[in-house]
Amino acid sequence: MLFASDLDQTLIYSRNSMGMDVTEDELVEVERYEGKPLSFMTQKSQSELWKINDAAFFLPVTTRTQAQYERVTGIFEGQQAPRFAVISNGAVILENGQPIKEWSEGIRQQCVSRKTIISDLMPEIERYFSEDWVLKVRQADDWFVYLIVDRARFPEEKLNFYTTAFKKLGWGMSLQGRKLYFMPESITKAGAMEYIKERLGASYVIAAGDSLLDLDLLESADYSILASHGEAVKSAVPTSEHIHRTDKYGIKAGEEILGRVAEISVQRK
Ligand SMILES: [Mg+2]
Repeated sequence: MLFASDLDQTLIYSRNSMGMDVTEDELVEVERYEGKPLSFMTQKSQSELWKINDAAFFLPVTTRTQAQYERVTGIFEGQQAPRFAVISNGAVILENGQPIKEWSEGIRQQCVSRKTIISDLMPEIERYFSEDWVLKVRQADDWFVYLIVDRARFPEEKLNFYTTAFKKLGWGMSLQGRKLYFMPESITKAGAMEYIKERLGASYVIAAGDSLLDLDLLESADYSILASHGEAVKSAVPTSEHIHRTDKYGIKAGEEILGRVAEISVQRK
């Protein structure tokens, strides 16, 4: 069995995203940035994750770049880190901490042949987004682009218009907190998960996530859990019957996800 899960706002949470129904002494720090604690899970979440790790393969599947992923060491504190990790939304797969070159070369070729490379995207970004609510434009290791936006001034009503315009160019969009992502259609979490599934010979996949960038992963798994506080639920995109929503929100939804997955993985062991 494979448990393929998104990290941010699914298993780990910042102060802003964790919600109010958690106490300080429940929290475990899992990421530190510039000397300050940045992301957390609950102690209960962490012990459920270790139960899962004993019974199944845990595969982190994140849009974080390698440097950003390597900061979340606290998740595996005192345990062995997973053999594989999917990072950069599926453009890169780490095996024992090292990128699998052939995988990323294949993705690069697909991006080039579909003309979804950053140098083609940038003029379009400039054309649509010379707006004062765009605070920064960032490139993630040459794979995809995200804008840091001022959410208070961001025109939510225009999001559908932007999404349709960029979809025609081969780019998917996703708004998560202050980040507005532009992802080439060839870079998917599901594609990378399928590769690992094959490598491990796994026959059953459980997946978890919260955003629009997680939906392909959740659709391609056998049993999936979607965090109810996330972008995917808010956007009301129709989903298949094997995708279940959490009852809880914030860091407690993370706990609920891990509790359910631990139960299933121990049963199936
Ligand atoms: Mg997420």
